[in-house]
Amino acid sequence: SIPLTFFGGIGGASRCGILIKGGNYMETLAKTDTVVCDKTGTLTKGTFHVTQVVPAGSADKGRLLEIAALAESCSSHPIATSLREAWGKSAVPEQVTDIQETAGRGVQAMVNGQPVLVGSSALLQQAGLTPLEVTQPGTVVQVAADGTYLGYILISDEVKEHSKEAISQLKAEGIRRVVMLTGDDQKAAETVASQLGIDEVRAELLPGGKVDTVEDLLQNKKGSLVFMGDGINDAPVLARADVGVAMGALGSDAAVEAADVVLMDDDPLKLPAAIRISRKTLRIVR
Ligand code: ADP
Ligand code: MG
Repeated sequence: SIPLTFFGGIGGASRCGILIKGGNYMETLAKTDTVVCDKTGTLTKGTFHVTQVVPAGSADKGRLLEIAALAESCSSHPIATSLREAWGKSAVPEQVTDIQETAGRGVQAMVNGQPVLVGSSALLQQAGLTPLEVTQPGTVVQVAADGTYLGYILISDEVKEHSKEAISQLKAEGIRRVVMLTGDDQKAAETVASQLGIDEVRAELLPGGKVDTVEDLLQNKKGSLVFMGDGINDAPVLARADVGVAMGALGSDAAVEAADVVLMDDDPLKLPAAIRISRKTLRIVR
């Protein structure tokens, strides 16, 4: 049977916008040793803006942006939205066909009869191309058409207002390891991590790689492992963690279903709050 005090703890948490799906998760949360966070949309706002368009060789900026926006005309990824916004026009459906999107990599499509690739450096490398290495901070979108590298578009995302404070509160609670996961490239990931005071980063991960990373961290934990994500493509990771925390109750149904704790909004400070409430409740129960 569940001790009565757990109901008090769960009720107190829910008044703070933290929905805990059972007393056992309070016990597991209280023993948190490792926290794993997704980057985009979880620690960052997930709203991207184009900051630079950099053609390679003789390509022109307007054409580079247009090809990228056209290829992304059907994607719901925030990167796609920012490219379409920066282009400012809308695609005629016949211009874009054979669209294929690969999670964590980018899109492939036929644009005005030409095969186009828009996405990470890894996506272009897989196709045998050698994209420019970019040293500026931000997410890099590489573009190729007809087997030729055209250049890149630099996109920036901002860290959330409370992310840094959330990480420092987790450390103050004695959490031993805080690890950030992302499909984004190493440089973009390290820039965000250093802004937030996170010392462990695993970058360039496909969705399956995020599950493998969590499996690996589970082998080396001393207490419990908590994963927090915004619910976009992370249901398998939410399910695998000892406690899966999904942000934004209005996010995807699959994530709310797979999660053990659901946060009513996107504020990362709710994670250290949930751990503190669980620890206080446990002290009362014992
Ligand atoms: P995160 O793991 O940080 O939540 P994602 O897994 O959504 O990020 O994406 C990882 C990377 O994959 C992006 O940084 C980008 O390089 C590439 N990518 C994914 N989808 C797209 C897309 N539709 N257009 C361009 N690039 C994309
Ligand atoms: Mg994400």
